[in-house]
Amino acid sequence: MSKYWNNRVKNIIPYTPGEQPRNKKFIKLNTNENPYPPSPKVIEAIKNAVNADLKLYPDPASTLFREAAAVRYGVNPEQVFAGNGSDEILAFAFGAFFEDSGGAQTDAILFPDITYSFYPVYADLWSIPYRTIPLCNDFSINCDDYKTRCGGVIFPNPNAPTGIPIPLGDIISLAEHLEEQSKVLIVDEAYCAFGAQSAVPYIDKHKNLLTVHTMSKQMSLAGLRFGFAIGSKALIEGLYRIKDSFNSYPVDRLALFGATAAITDAAYYDDINRKVMETREQVAEELRAIGFNVMPSAANFILIQAPCISGADFFSALRERGILVRHFNKERISDFLRVTIGTDEEMDVFLCVCKEIIKN
Ligand code: PMP
Repeated sequence: MSKYWNNRVKNIIPYTPGEQPRNKKFIKLNTNENPYPPSPKVIEAIKNAVNADLKLYPDPASTLFREAAAVRYGVNPEQVFAGNGSDEILAFAFGAFFEDSGGAQTDAILFPDITYSFYPVYADLWSIPYRTIPLCNDFSINCDDYKTRCGGVIFPNPNAPTGIPIPLGDIISLAEHLEEQSKVLIVDEAYCAFGAQSAVPYIDKHKNLLTVHTMSKQMSLAGLRFGFAIGSKALIEGLYRIKDSFNSYPVDRLALFGATAAITDAAYYDDINRKVMETREQVAEELRAIGFNVMPSAANFILIQAPCISGADFFSALRERGILVRHFNKERISDFLRVTIGTDEEMDVFLCVCKEIIKN
């Protein structure tokens, strides 16, 4: 605590990102990175962009990327926003579409009680009132629970850290409901490429529907920091208004060229992401066979509960054996661990270690 901090800084509880070890060599299954490298075309594009043009500011509107993404998703470039990682876009979206508590009677926004733990941080940062809606007993999201008067809704599809997908029809029905209240539905599609159905085809019909995407997982570019959003022209304009009131150039030249190469190389990414999904299903099956509770996942991670050992102890036992996973010390999921899907070799080691831990 410092006397120089304002009340906002004093009171905020920042998000804690997963550990990025610097020295010790771990099998790293804790931050949902893709285990496979980015497309060679991405590396080439970035290398080509390392030239004297770096003295110039990048295009503040990231036009090159927006045009390429528009072709890939069958939308218009004005329906695409590019940003410095999807975390930044989510922060902008909270600022652009959810009302702060300054209003006389601002309705709270809604998100699940168990979900991406950055949402309450953004809400607090922007002073947006929020209410959490409990997941169902099987940890799924029931969209009908969100059909109530509110300031807007956000959730990931599939949800994190459960990995459970939400039926697209339910999402669209909720978007319709919120449209009647002129409220925005943000669907965070960070993990959608690993088996859930994207809501992008509905952004024309539902002008209040914003989908947010990241290159960190599906395109193996967590180190580049690039995300994008797809929604109606009005929502995208709203995001640009916030961006241009904050930082004109969040997307640098190297990221712009790298991300554009990535979005145009669907064949490469379809292939590696299919491998991730296959590995996920094999690992889930093997874990269930030895007594683990494994949530059904459409993401590049699984949420698992070991038999007869607490989540915290299981986390430590894995760490001692050189495997990093994520443990959330949170009601309802404190006995679970979130495990990112690695390569087949990494997951073989993980399975062996799991067997050894539960034997003891
Ligand atoms: N949404 C969800 C649900 C996530 O888990 C993450 C990764 N922590 C993000 C968004 C942010 O991804 P990035 O900022 O790397 O694009």
